[in-house]
Parts: sequence; structure tokens; C-alpha cells
Amino acid sequence: MTDTKPDLAPLPFIDLGAQRRRLGAAIDTAILRVVDHGAYILGPEVAQLEAELAAFCGAKHAITCSDGTDALALVMMAKGVGPGDAVVCPSFTYTATAEVVVRLGATPVFADVEERRFNLDPAGLDAALRTARERGLKPVGMIAVDLFGHPADYDALTPFCAAHGLWMLCDAAQSFGAAHKGARLGTFGLATTTSFFPAKPLGCYGDGGAILTDDDALDATLRSLRFHGLGPDRSDHTGIGLTGRLDTIQAAVLLQKLTIFADEIAARNAVAARYAAGLGDLATVPEIAPGCTSVWAQYTIRVAPERRAELSASLKAQGIPTAIYYAKPMHRQSAYKDFPVAGNGLQVTDRLADEVISLPMHPYLDAETQDRIIGAIRAVLDAGRTRLRARG
Ligand SMILES: *Cc1c(COP(=O)(O)O)cnc(C)c1O
Repeated sequence: MTDTKPDLAPLPFIDLGAQRRRLGAAIDTAILRVVDHGAYILGPEVAQLEAELAAFCGAKHAITCSDGTDALALVMMAKGVGPGDAVVCPSFTYTATAEVVVRLGATPVFADVEERRFNLDPAGLDAALRTARERGLKPVGMIAVDLFGHPADYDALTPFCAAHGLWMLCDAAQSFGAAHKGARLGTFGLATTTSFFPAKPLGCYGDGGAILTDDDALDATLRSLRFHGLGPDRSDHTGIGLTGRLDTIQAAVLLQKLTIFADEIAARNAVAARYAAGLGDLATVPEIAPGCTSVWAQYTIRVAPERRAELSASLKAQGIPTAIYYAKPMHRQSAYKDFPVAGNGLQVTDRLADEVISLPMHPYLDAETQDRIIGAIRAVLDAGRTRLRARG
């Protein structure tokens, strides 16, 4: 027995248990079915999941794979990305985005993001190409990240890539299910990749990922590369690939989760709307572009840098977890600090790194619990505002 007061009970940042209770025995049954039928690699659930993922977002092909990082790698391997190539990508992202570029021997060129939606700023892209050429590199492509669940600015990025002969790869690891002007992610650029890491909006019970594309030739190449470059006649290997498949058991888990995913996206949007209504006057809350839908992988607000540590400490003391995504953008990380940044530096990225703080976000965050979180945040930020006024 604990005698913690109910209003101080620690909250989860992401409540996977609530989803598990909702789905009941369905996932256990689905897993046991795979254990019994024995087709552990590329079993029937994998093909069914690929058909359902493609249908869900309106893409022609879905190719499942081992994780969201290999999804990015497989597409760039299919494009033959290598030394001398430059790939434009944001620095304000999870490390995997540019890690694969480096692993293939190419060079990431970090470009700035725009502050309302945390995604690539079209205004900084010319500078990124100039920076690449000044270094003697050939710009070949762009990785547009749909950060925190929000679609990138495809109205601007798509024509930019077309005008400069770049392929566009959409890293929707945090954003499967999000939509841009009526079209779900999965239908933009050369290909879209996603991740089924457990904490992502659509997560499995381990590692998993997928690639979505409308390109038939790319689909065939990716299926070969994820299986060691296996050729059509299955005795000849025609490419150098990876052990890059999604386990059948994970496909079975995802098929069950997909049945409630649209409903969970709606619930995430209700949670986001309550945060915006409760905090919009005291903090900078994220803005979604008109006509776009986010899946809210993170609910990330911005506060004055000098208030952030106090806010997270106060919330932590009250059992409310927060996270800083991303305290160190990629161009500030030890392994990446020598790669080029576009133009004169990434002012917005650097500022966001000091201001952002992500709040508990999942589809099962009820209004009462959320009021407790909002109240705790308001208490800190309101007190700070009063102090400022007193000083001024
Ligand atoms: C999580 C993530 C990845 C990598 O996905 P994994 O499945 O963990 O390999 C890539 N890009 C972004 C933006 C991510 O958030």
C-alpha cells in the first residue's frame, strides 16, 4: 500500500498500458497464432499488414522492415547514395535521420527549421545547396522530417526538390497517419519511411518500420534489399542488402493496433486541443498548418529558456514527467558537429533547443488528469509572469 495522494500519483509520459487494456486479449491471441503457424519471417501477417498500411495512407506500396532507421537506409541504398553526395536534412530531429546518411558515406547538410511547426524552413534550402556545393559535394536529395507528428511543408518542399533534381524522402517516423491537405503522409516524395518503435504513435512490441511509395521499381528494389539483396530467382543475389525484415509477430501486433488507430488519432487531437486551450496564453503552443492533421507524437510547447528547468523540476516533483526533444540538435552532437550547416548557422534550431519542453501525450490522457498537468504548468508560468511584472 502506498499513501500517495491521488493528485500526486506519478503519471506516465506515454501510457501503453491503457491501450493494452483496451485491446484486451486480441494481441495475445494474434501473437499465439503466429507462434503456432510458424511462419516467423515474412509470414501471412506481414503481407496483410503491408496491404493495410498502404490502404490506410493511400500509397501504392508498403514495404515493412526492421525499424525506422533501416527504412531510411534502404531507400538511400536503393538510390545509390554514397561518398561525395550531400543530403539536406534538419538538425532539429532524432539522430537516426542523418545517421544513415553518414553511414552510407554521404554528407548531411543541416538546414534550419521554422519555429511554429519545428519542420524544415523552405527559406533556408537555397543556402543548404550553396553550402554543399562550396564543399565540393553534389546535392542529391532531401530528408524532410515530419517532426512530433506534424507534416512538413510539402507545398514548398516538393517543388523545391523537383526544381533542383533532388529526391525527397519523408521521415515520418513520428507521423504515420498524419495528413497534409487531405492526403496522408506516405504519398509525398519518392518515399516515406516510418517507425513502429513502441513509443511512436503506431508502435509494436519491439522494433519495426515501413516504407511507403508509389514507385513500382523502387518497391521491388526495397523488397530485395531488405532480404540481403535477393534476386527474383531466389538463388542469385543481385544487390548488397540488409537483414531488414519485420518479424511476423510484430506484424500481428500492428494489425490489431491498426484497428483502433484512427480513433486514437482523434483522441490525440482532442488532447492537443485541450493543451492549446489551457496553455496558449502562457506558453507558445504548436501550430498546425491549415488543412493539416498531426498525430501528436509529442506535444511540445516553448517557454522562456530561463523558466524551463524550473518548470520541469516543479512538474517532476508533482509526478508529472516531461522531456526535452531536442536539447542537443544534431549539429551540436559530438559525432555530427563537423558536418556542414547551411548558411550562417541554424538560429531557430539553436533557440528551439533552449525553449522546448514536451508534455505527457497519449490517446488515453483523460480530461481530469490533463487539468492536473495544465494547472501545475500554469502555477509555474503564472508565478514567473508575476515576478517579471514586479521587476518591470
Ligand atoms: C524514431 C525515429 C527514427 C528511427 O526509428 P527507429 O525505428 O527507432 O529506428 C527516425 N527518425 C525519426 C525522426 C525518429 O523519431
